Amino acid sequence: MTSRERKKRAPRSANRAPLWRAGIALALVAAAGLAVVVAPRAPTKVPVEVRLPLPPSPPPREPQREPPREPASVPPSLPTIIPPSPAPNFAPGVPPREPPRVAETPVPPWQRYAATAPAADGRSWVAIVIDDLGLDRRRSARTVALPGPLTLAWLPYAPDVTRQAAAARTHGHEILLHAPMQPQGKENPGPNALTVDLSSEEIRKRVANGMALLPEAVGLNNHMGSRFTRDAAAMAPVVAELKERGQLFLDSRTALNSIAGDVAKAAGVPTALRDVFLDNEPIPVAVAERLAETEAIARKRGHAIAIGHPHDVTLEALEPWLRSLSARGLVLAPVSAIVKRERERAALAHANPR
Ligand SMILES: [Zn+2]
Repeated sequence: MTSRERKKRAPRSANRAPLWRAGIALALVAAAGLAVVVAPRAPTKVPVEVRLPLPPSPPPREPQREPPREPASVPPSLPTIIPPSPAPNFAPGVPPREPPRVAETPVPPWQRYAATAPAADGRSWVAIVIDDLGLDRRRSARTVALPGPLTLAWLPYAPDVTRQAAAARTHGHEILLHAPMQPQGKENPGPNALTVDLSSEEIRKRVANGMALLPEAVGLNNHMGSRFTRDAAAMAPVVAELKERGQLFLDSRTALNSIAGDVAKAAGVPTALRDVFLDNEPIPVAVAERLAETEAIARKRGHAIAIGHPHDVTLEALEPWLRSLSARGLVLAPVSAIVKRERERAALAHANPR
């Protein structure tokens, strides 16, 4: 080898050793990175205890120290090892903004986002829930324009549902997720409905995706679901998700033998049951009869919850009925107010048994 050749070669072999060392160093760093990702996943299964204090609402306090159900964040240096989280199942294009889990907030969402409750003046309360909202934008807007506070339940697959619901809340109404669930018959509940054959994880994911679209919802009620709400095992993950998020459940009772409300109550989830369907028979005389029935139940028991739909016949009957409700000695209340008052009464009865 001439000295000229040596001069040419020397820089190459001199570079080769550092490259080789750098390769080992990179491998070590990657292995260490993997160990960091694999090792500290302990808190994934830590149960989050939710205690909803009653009454009154608790004063602001230190954020609870319980670990969140999912790791709060992923180290930015390890983006390729974490699989990308799946896109939400509902309404593509709407950025998911998950409501905070209850462990992160001192006031649970079912109270934080509650529409203003009427004064507790001894009068009977009536809650009017209108569901199936969002698909028919004109009738949805007409519903929002009614005197409130109504409780308005929005289908997660309706276009632009986040903005439609936000406008309704600005108008003083209360918001529910109208979660599509499997019916007994052949009717189609819509995309991403909860069905009894889904895994618990998938059911929770679908509920969470729906809630992400309605960050100011107080809870959910079922759209259809005469099959799903009779299945305790299928309802369990729905209820678990509600409990963890501090949201209420309204059983629409599309099946008379629904056990959904019992499952939710047993888990300590704030729960309400529908009393009357206003427009199963969508003709004026029948809707008027159902409204009268709602009033009668409220006068007898102290409250009543009626569910209607954005049909012209229902909206036309509701407008004058809502305006004259107060004159008839009744008070329009959001569902959350009825749930809260009933829980307070139950707690009082429990504390002072006869
Ligand atoms: Zn529905």
